[in-house]
Amino acid sequence: MTRLFLMWKIVFVLLTSIALNACVQLYPQAGSSKLEYYLVQPGDNIYSIAFALEITAEQLLHTNPWLRSEPVAPGMRLSVPSYRLHNNTAKNDTGYGNNQFDEIDRVTIQGLNAEYIWPVLRVEITSHYGYRRGGLHAGIDLRAPRGTRIYASAAGKVVFSGHKPGYGRIIVIDHGNGIETAYAHNSRNLAKKGQSVTQGQLVATVGRSGNATGYHVHFEFRRYGQAVNPIPHLRAAL
Ligand SMILES: [Zn+2]
Repeated sequence: MTRLFLMWKIVFVLLTSIALNACVQLYPQAGSSKLEYYLVQPGDNIYSIAFALEITAEQLLHTNPWLRSEPVAPGMRLSVPSYRLHNNTAKNDTGYGNNQFDEIDRVTIQGLNAEYIWPVLRVEITSHYGYRRGGLHAGIDLRAPRGTRIYASAAGKVVFSGHKPGYGRIIVIDHGNGIETAYAHNSRNLAKKGQSVTQGQLVATVGRSGNATGYHVHFEFRRYGQAVNPIPHLRAAL
């Protein structure tokens, strides 16, 4: 009798757990916000991931707020928001179209690090570094509205502030140890040749001078005169 009761009890527990499992599996599909996941690969950073997902880095951070304090590492699973860049509502949320950028963010960044920072606050990579038709694209293109502030990626000395064919208005900063950063297609160059700048200092504003079809900053990272992919040298988190 007791044995039979025990057997029933075991069957009941088994059935309950099967039923609960079924509920757990069904529940996410029943919810209205369907989340996808992205598995972080070696060499990824939030900007390359955001670019691949067609969202902004800000949107990725919004969905994964802990990324603000912890850099991405291979094997991490990131939540992907259901909206994408081509969704108009989401695009307005990023701040594009109005020119009101938050200075407080930049101050926070400045206090945090000694690494190279992104030259604009809201990053949307429209062209990567690499070989393409016509040769090497020696930097990355970051789309931003006209007049967007461009900040020095690190402290250094302005070694060029002027105009170069193709580049249009360009600023070049020497950071020592053979490293230079360049910011091109500017609407205005604000830093002067010979001037010392601090990291995050306003040096120029976004334009489309030189060979540029739309408003963006062409950002180069040079080691001993050789332009390399800037992304691995830039901070992974905002
Ligand atoms: Zn470019």
